[in-house]
Amino acid sequence: MPNYGLLIDYEYCSGCHSCEVACKEEHGFPVGKHGIRVFNDGPWPIDNRKMNWNKIPIPTDLCDLCADRVAKGKVPTCVHHCLCQAMKFGTIDELCEDLKRKHKQVLWVPREGEPLNWQEEIDTTSVVEKLKHVKHDITYSVADDSALKGGEANTSFKLALQREEQKLDERQKVE
Ligand code: SF4
Ligand code: SF4
Repeated sequence: MPNYGLLIDYEYCSGCHSCEVACKEEHGFPVGKHGIRVFNDGPWPIDNRKMNWNKIPIPTDLCDLCADRVAKGKVPTCVHHCLCQAMKFGTIDELCEDLKRKHKQVLWVPREGEPLNWQEEIDTTSVVEKLKHVKHDITYSVADDSALKGGEANTSFKLALQREEQKLDERQKVE
């Protein structure tokens, strides 16, 4: 189990994406690859005067907790560039203590072992084949699930499936 992590206070996150940009710059990630993403929860109306809209930054499996910077005694670059001071780097024990003191925070711990190797050559043909199997399995399970048959969930699922099929077709055309 890793000893270090990030504590992210999403109540004070402004959604500026500086952490995303700083992380990409630091690691040289190409288009489409990120060490951290800022996700949206909302917006949706709570009542006539208020909206719910949370910005929630979540590191990815490419995050190495800025090992090179940390080895030189610096904090991770996302923490350094967060103008809202909404991110904190530390030991899991320290961060758990901080977590107890405040609501609307997420504690993130990296994956076990090395981060994923984003420079690895990917055989896109096998990815498309895998997607086909996923599509088949999903179609089979929906057809088999009487609880979903004819229901609203089934309709929205079919729409989602159609979108996935379109994306798959477009990918196959490109290849
Ligand atoms: S840099 Fe800080 S305020 Fe900006 S999106 Fe990231 S966590 Fe939120
Ligand atoms: S700790 Fe470093 S690698 Fe991880 S999200 Fe922050 S900037 Fe990216």
